[in-house]
Amino acid sequence: MATVIDPQHDSDASPSAAEANADLKAQIEATTPWNDSGQSGKFGHQLAMAIAVVGPFLGFVSLIACCWIYGSMNAFYLALLIGGWVLSGLGITIGFHRLLSHRSFDSFRWVKAMWMAFGALAVEGSPIMWCAIHRKHHQFSDLFGDPHSPRLHGNGWWNAVRGFTYAHTGWLFSGLWRSVDSEKYVPDLLEDKLLVAVDKVYYLWVLASLAIPAAIAGIVMQSWMAVWLGFLWGGLARIFLTHHITWSINSICHIFGSREFEAGDESRNNLLFGILGHGEGWHNNHHAFPTSARHGLRWWQFDLSWYIIRTMQMVGLAWDVRTPSARAQESKRLSCS
Ligand SMILES: [Zn+2]
Ligand SMILES: [Zn+2]
Repeated sequence: MATVIDPQHDSDASPSAAEANADLKAQIEATTPWNDSGQSGKFGHQLAMAIAVVGPFLGFVSLIACCWIYGSMNAFYLALLIGGWVLSGLGITIGFHRLLSHRSFDSFRWVKAMWMAFGALAVEGSPIMWCAIHRKHHQFSDLFGDPHSPRLHGNGWWNAVRGFTYAHTGWLFSGLWRSVDSEKYVPDLLEDKLLVAVDKVYYLWVLASLAIPAAIAGIVMQSWMAVWLGFLWGGLARIFLTHHITWSINSICHIFGSREFEAGDESRNNLLFGILGHGEGWHNNHHAFPTSARHGLRWWQFDLSWYIIRTMQMVGLAWDVRTPSARAQESKRLSCS
C-alpha cells in the first residue's frame, strides 16, 4: 500500500523552513491591507478586488443577455451551458477533489473513473496532476510552497492585486504543472491502472468536452449554425464559467469571507462560491477538515456535492464517507464564531 500524504498533518518542510515561513507569514499578516487590523490602502484594494471578482461574471451575464436579444442565445443553449457546467463542475468537486485528492469517501473503481472523466471535461488539466497540486496546496496552505496562495505577494494594495491575480490565473503560467512530483503526492492514484488510463487520454476528454455539446445542438436543432452555437455556449463559454468558479476558490476563498474554524491558514467560507462552486466555497470548513466529504457543515450551507455523495451512499455507490464529529468541530471552532 502506497504512502499517501495527509495534507493536514504531514509536511516535508524542515523545522527551520517552517519557522521561516511562520515569521514571514506573521510579517505579511501584520501589514497586508485585507488584515482586519491593517487599514492602509483598504478601500483601493477592495475596489480593485471587487472589479476583478465581479467584472468577468457581469461581462458574462451581459454577453448572454445581448446574444439573447440578437437571437444567438435561447433557452436551449442556456440549458446546454448550465447542464455542462453542473456536470463537469461536479466532476471537479466530487471526483477530482473530494474522492481522489482527499479520499473523503470510497467507491467502486468504475465510479471513480466516471467522476474523473466528468472532471476531465472541465478542462482544468490532467486529473492526476490536478490532485497532486491540490494535495500540495493543503500541505503548504498560504505558506511558501503553496502553488496558488494569494497571500504571499507582500504589502499594499498593488501587491494584494498581484496576489489575487496570481492565485486566480497567474500560477497556471508558472510551469508548476510540469514540476509537481506526482510520485510523492499521488502514489495511490498512480497505482490504479484504470485511473491512469483515464488520465492518459486527457486530451481526448478535452476534444469530447467541445464536440459533445456541438453534436447535441446539431442533432436537436438540425442546423450547422446550431453546431457552432453549441460549440460556443456548451463548450467554450461553459469552460470559461467552470474555470473561473474553480479559480475563485483558490483566490477569493483565501481572501473574502468568514472563518468559523482554526485551519492554520487564511481560508474563508464564502456564500456566493458555496452556491456557484457546488459547495466548495465553504473553504474554511474544508481546510479545517480536509478529509470531510461534507463542506457545508451547517444545514443552511448549500453543498450540492455533499447531497450527491449522500445520495450515492444511500444507494450503495459510496461508503466510508467521512465527516467531522461534533467534538472535532468544537475543538477547532474559533471563539468569535
Ligand atoms: Zn484552499
Ligand atoms: Zn482540498
